[in-house]
Amino acid sequence: MDNWSTKKLIIENARPDGESLVIPYIKIKGTGPKIAIVGTQHGDEFFSIAIINKFLKSNFSTDADLTIFPLANPSAFNISNRRSPIDNQDMNRNWSGKKEGTLTSRMCYQIFRIIKNCDYVLDLHNANKNIRDAPQLRVHESNREKTQNLCKYLGIDFFINHSDVRHTLVEEMQKLNKTAVCIEIGEGKRIDSFYLNKGVQIIKKFILYATDPTVARTKTKHIDEETIKKIHAPKSGIFIPNEKFLGEKTKIMGTFINIADLKDEKITLKKDHKVLSLCVGGVVSKGDLIARVVE
Ligand SMILES: [Zn+2]
Repeated sequence: MDNWSTKKLIIENARPDGESLVIPYIKIKGTGPKIAIVGTQHGDEFFSIAIINKFLKSNFSTDADLTIFPLANPSAFNISNRRSPIDNQDMNRNWSGKKEGTLTSRMCYQIFRIIKNCDYVLDLHNANKNIRDAPQLRVHESNREKTQNLCKYLGIDFFINHSDVRHTLVEEMQKLNKTAVCIEIGEGKRIDSFYLNKGVQIIKKFILYATDPTVARTKTKHIDEETIKKIHAPKSGIFIPNEKFLGEKTKIMGTFINIADLKDEKITLKKDHKVLSLCVGGVVSKGDLIARVVE
């Protein structure tokens, strides 16, 4: 991409010491559809920043008008945490924000003022520490029909219906009748080249779709969030994930090494499941999340 300029959104009196907070954003002017791309609402999901950076360096040309917030929540990012330490609020439960609210709510308000004029919103997220997400698209019931062609076109296999989360960016944009989706990809704190390239491709395809929605013709069947099963470590030890099956169907989640006798044990489900998220491996304790699967 060329012709991009960097801008700053200043949140006055943001910190306890009275200092302001700066939220950087990027503007690429165009005559085509207005698109917003948002990353790192959760401060520990900075893989999205690497994806956006790689997208900006690619040679992709578009007439779309792009507004990009690679780091929506610098307050949480500075301590590498999901929430801002100042008010302990989850940004993605605070949209569309309040002009005179707590810091997180004010960040939402100021960002929303800029992106509410966009017709398309791509909100990028990543999995928690030590978990990798196969790319998955999340929408709310109200916007499902509108976006069911989009999932397959973006090259994403999992189309998930958000159940009870409220006041997300996607939900608030949908209320304004915009096309907004949330995408989970990779692990928040780890830069991984496979999902880095996949993430760049998803951004490019999202822009192409916004330019001409008829390019996406295949509907994807949705998955209800309640049907996703969480698999927990049955004991403590070293977990070696069956990583080539992330995003695929398998019975085997990985292998466990028992520290006491160094014996192996396969972690196997009764039947095949599609693996949505998988632990990256290493030391785990009994009860830790090792996978999220769906039949
Ligand atoms: Zn997130």
